[in-house]
Amino acid sequence: MRERSEAPPHKTPRSPRYIRMFGVLLTAVMLLAAVGGTAATYRLGQSAESDNALAINAFDLNSALRQISGNLQLPNLEQTASLKKETQSVVSGARQSIALVRSDGTLSPLMKLAIDRSTAYLNAVEGVVRAHSSDAPSQVQSADSLSDLVDQAATEAQGSAHAASVDERTGGIAILLLVLLLVVAGVLWQGRQRRRSAVIASQAEGLADFEAMIENSTDLFFLTDTDNRTQYCSPSAARFFGMSAAEIADAPIGQFINDDDLVKATAAFNTVRAVGAAGPFDLSVRHHDGGWRTIEVMANDLSLASSGHAVAWHTRDVTDRRVLEEQLTRQAFEDPLTGLANRALFRDRLAHALARLSRSTRSIAVLMLDLDGFKAINDSMGHDAGDEALKEIAARISGAARPGDTVGRLGGDEFTVLLDELEDVTFADEVADRILELVRQPLLIQNVNLRVSASIGIAVSDTHEMTPEELMRDADIAMYRAKGDGRDRRVAFEPAMHTRATKQLRISQDLAHALDRDELALYYQAIVDLEDGVPQGVEALIRWHHRDLGLVAPNDFISIAEQNGLILPIGRWVLEQACAQAVAWHSEPPEEQKLTMSVNVSGRQLNHDSLVPDVRRILANSGLDPQYLILEVTESVVMSDIDMVIRRLNDLKALGISIAIDDFGTGYSSLAYLRQLPVDILKIDKAFIDAAASGDPGGDAIMRAIVHLSEGLHLKTIAEGVEDASQALHIKELGCQSAQGFLFSRPMPPDDIGAFLAASTRMAIRS
Ligand code: C2E
Ligand code: MG
Ligand code: MG
Repeated sequence: MRERSEAPPHKTPRSPRYIRMFGVLLTAVMLLAAVGGTAATYRLGQSAESDNALAINAFDLNSALRQISGNLQLPNLEQTASLKKETQSVVSGARQSIALVRSDGTLSPLMKLAIDRSTAYLNAVEGVVRAHSSDAPSQVQSADSLSDLVDQAATEAQGSAHAASVDERTGGIAILLLVLLLVVAGVLWQGRQRRRSAVIASQAEGLADFEAMIENSTDLFFLTDTDNRTQYCSPSAARFFGMSAAEIADAPIGQFINDDDLVKATAAFNTVRAVGAAGPFDLSVRHHDGGWRTIEVMANDLSLASSGHAVAWHTRDVTDRRVLEEQLTRQAFEDPLTGLANRALFRDRLAHALARLSRSTRSIAVLMLDLDGFKAINDSMGHDAGDEALKEIAARISGAARPGDTVGRLGGDEFTVLLDELEDVTFADEVADRILELVRQPLLIQNVNLRVSASIGIAVSDTHEMTPEELMRDADIAMYRAKGDGRDRRVAFEPAMHTRATKQLRISQDLAHALDRDELALYYQAIVDLEDGVPQGVEALIRWHHRDLGLVAPNDFISIAEQNGLILPIGRWVLEQACAQAVAWHSEPPEEQKLTMSVNVSGRQLNHDSLVPDVRRILANSGLDPQYLILEVTESVVMSDIDMVIRRLNDLKALGISIAIDDFGTGYSSLAYLRQLPVDILKIDKAFIDAAASGDPGGDAIMRAIVHLSEGLHLKTIAEGVEDASQALHIKELGCQSAQGFLFSRPMPPDDIGAFLAASTRMAIRS
């Protein structure tokens, strides 16, 4: 085991000794070649020069011989002193040439012969000239043959001078080329050496940097041998595991790895041996602080790149990054408040579940759940309380589902449950019932006991041909039906609901124009005193004359107007119309019998701060005496946010108007609350009238209890939906004071009800 806790000091390495020696040798050879070459060329130059001089001298000698020969042939040589003189001078010139030739040292045999003969000839010529001998003609003859000889020797000398000079030139060029070649080779060599040195230096620097990087890196580096024994580990690894490098080397690798990841680690060891590399992959390893950390691992078999038999393991602590990645993934698919699946994840799971149906005989079900009256918790107790409630509800819904089922929150108070692999679809009903039961349990939020309920729509599919959107839409439609049917219930989707939903969508869109197009109207229904049958007042009931659908009843559009907010302008219009109508009737005789005007107010209107000022303004504008105006609020609205309702009703009462609780008996009013409510009238729901009149003793008992309670609280009672005389009689006997129903009058347009009211009042007065 090598421990390298500190990097060795780095020196820039030099070229090997033999390479340096070779460089020196090359330079020396270059110099020697240059010197030798130059010397050889010089010598050749010298030889060419002397051969050349020899040839010139020989030619001079030759021309002297020819002139002598010419002179000797002249007939008057003997007489002409000047000719003699001239010939002698030529001879001495020739002698000089001979002397010069001789002085040139190495003479060719031919040249030597020519010189010797020339010397002898000149001697003879001198004798002829000096002695005026008549031997001149023979001298002329030998001069000719001598001249040829000298010429030959001169030509030979010239040839050898030329050859020497060619040699010198060739040698010079060759030497020049050689020197040039050597110089170029030398320059290239030196350049290469310099570059090589630079590369070696930079490699050395890189190596030093690399070593420093490994030594100082927070990444963990290991080298293992063929037996997976640690040969080297970086200081960062020692710091990570809180052990010395030697201790790490001695410890079995498995000691550091989480048991769950041992199989993965072993597979990686095998992979790197088989294919030379493995990773990146994550391993959970034990940190020196005792906690588990996630490291990302990459391995390379170095034996592929070098002769060493080692595997390099490059790992880094990615725990924080993985946590962050997990968080981001969770954020993308998880509802942050409840930890349930969000819409994207739910949709994805649903898509997979639907896809699985293609090879399954089972079914899946989607439960769409919306809390009833949850807004009131948010509005009255604040969003923190609302969030707390949502978390608790989420836990309850999850508790009702099976462990593998997907429970999601789509936003607000909307939840979904995906039930997969259903053999029997009635299981969806069971789960829905369990959820309803759990949601109904009191919620203790900020020390206040709250009650909420849920409306659940169920959509089932046994075919993969449906899309997630279609199934969720069907469950949604069924959920709205559950709301419409009175909330706190489950409703299974039926195809007819889809038609209804489509109609509702159309209604929602057309309602926006209903006011502008003057399509809305108020009908009125009489409320009579059971004692004498005289109308005391009327209830204004809205109608919509839809251009295509005909007369649309309020139950078909009021809840939609509530959802899309149109109830606010519509409600204002109703109040204005009703108050104006009341004033109109009041202005007609008999003036002593003034009718009350009951106007229905929805939950959203009651919630809105504009209600009280609106009522005040409309009363003032219409001139209606407030004592004749009764606002009807349904019991379920009252109970959704009792504190707010009490405050609002008190404000309304302060205007001098009366308040009636509509549909009493259907909204599970707590009798304790009823005492605090500033109301004047209880309108008993038709269901109780029917029950009492049917002879059901229980129905009678309830009616009696309500009437008794009303008397105790000094409230007036009005029975709703009285359809026949026996019912009227029965409830009158039970103590009910007033009634409203088809028995007395149907809701009618103003003119019709006006005529009816006038007639019945006249009848009452006459009787
Ligand atoms: P509601 O206020 O309880 O009105 C009584 C409903 O019972 C009326 O239905 C009326 O036509 C019906 N009814 C009266 N007598 C009988 C009877 O003898 N038998 C039967 N079967 N029904 C009878 P309508 O007019 O369809 O109104 C339904 C509901 O719509 C009303 O119930 C009320 O809650 C709401 N509504 C009507 N007009 C308005 C309005 O202007 N504003 C608001 N916010 N809601 C309104
Ligand atoms: Mg009403
Ligand atoms: Mg009613």
